[in-house]
Amino acid sequence: MNVRVGHRSMGTEVRKTGFVYLIGAGPGDPELLTIKAQRVLDIADVILYDDLVSSDLVAHFSALKIYTGKRKNCHHFEQDAINQEILRHAREGKIVARLKGGDPFIFGRGGEELEVMRQNGIGYEIIPGITAAHGASTYTEIPLTMRKISSSVAFCTGHPVSKLHVPNTDTIVYYMVASTVREVLDAVAKKGWSDTTPVAVVQNATRYNQNVLVGSLGEFRREEKPVYSPALLLIGENIAYFIKENWYSKKKKVLLVGGDAAQFKTSEFVRVHFPCLQAQAVDPQLVARCMQHVEQWSVVCFADEFAIQYFFKALFEVSRDVRHLANTRICALNTVVAIALQRYGLKADVLLEAHDDVSISDLLQANGITTSDILLPMSTLVDDALINAFENVGNKVTALPLYSLDRPENEESLDLDFIDEIYFASPVCLRQFKALYAELPQHIVVKTADDKTQAEYLVLFCGDELPATLL
Ligand code: SAH
Repeated sequence: MNVRVGHRSMGTEVRKTGFVYLIGAGPGDPELLTIKAQRVLDIADVILYDDLVSSDLVAHFSALKIYTGKRKNCHHFEQDAINQEILRHAREGKIVARLKGGDPFIFGRGGEELEVMRQNGIGYEIIPGITAAHGASTYTEIPLTMRKISSSVAFCTGHPVSKLHVPNTDTIVYYMVASTVREVLDAVAKKGWSDTTPVAVVQNATRYNQNVLVGSLGEFRREEKPVYSPALLLIGENIAYFIKENWYSKKKKVLLVGGDAAQFKTSEFVRVHFPCLQAQAVDPQLVARCMQHVEQWSVVCFADEFAIQYFFKALFEVSRDVRHLANTRICALNTVVAIALQRYGLKADVLLEAHDDVSISDLLQANGITTSDILLPMSTLVDDALINAFENVGNKVTALPLYSLDRPENEESLDLDFIDEIYFASPVCLRQFKALYAELPQHIVVKTADDKTQAEYLVLFCGDELPATLL
């Protein structure tokens, strides 16, 4: 096998120099990441990511994540500091993924960062990404070129105004226009473009909150339309092809709070992951000790998908695997968890899915789990009601906090107006959500993973009391 020095290969080889991948993450929809970018991010030690890269996208990778953007309340990195940070990690022998919104070479300052690598003799590769203009055009059904209508297209910057160009093309896409739309359109009109030329502003292209404003050049110049970042301005006759009910706007936007469910994995939905559930590992030493002696518990009960993910990560880190659970009874708190366990080669022995008239304690008794030693991998938000349910029927519980459900500091709040459905995977997630969003807009359809979560939803958002069976 050909192993490049500096790459991670199951932790066996010696590292000498690091390696930097300059990667385009695409315009927002995480599924627009290329297969190549995904492969590299999977093996990266560090991911340095920008403003336009969603933390939802980076959450899927185990590398150390460093946010280098400029969102409020966050440490602000100047370009020089970013360059130094890339160099520092590379010199420590790490695989550095420098992840940028869209494409690194389209208004992405990729050229400057490349220069740093060249000057310092650091090995690198560059992986293109889908630029915002391509994302916006396909997700709004506005072709950038069209036979007989547009045979040329230019990508320009709308900022700073002193660098404005109005090229002689059929279609122009302006980047960075949120604060300069008026000036850009004035410059275009001054160049002789007709007042009737169709114009579109595409905000948050390819994201759940994509919003499109359309009109003519004249209308846009007369009316003050609110434009917020990130936004693109498209000008040209091809924009007349925009239709309000397009393939993307018709999809239902479902917010997944704390886990995914098979019912949403169809093309009918756009799945948005709720960022407060960015899971972070906690106390690795304690976790490693538990994993080394995992056989000592006769039952392991998995509460949610993050618990599974972090449990197996920890188990593999001490060079152990499912074979060490051969004599352990495996419980899953609901079917979503049971399905997730199958991905690790485990079939749940007991499904502890509480219903209106069957409590978890009833299910434990029915399955003979009454005087067992139980390991409960979970988040740092320990679910006391669940522990009580186990202990009430004579079990001894070790709650093992594997991860914390912190809200990433740099995350902007969600715009629930764009959400059609919400799925809550567990009561803990519901409580996290409630802490941030006191109310749910009326139009949102709520779905829950199981009866316990449904009951918690009714308590938190509809003022009901928790049924005694679910306590
Ligand atoms: N390298 C990026 C562009 C970075 S410059 C790319 O190739 O797309 C930042 C500008 O990109 C923003 O001001 C905005 O004009 C545009 N942009 C990036 N993502 C966008 C999105 N999802 N929707 C609309 N515009 C976006």
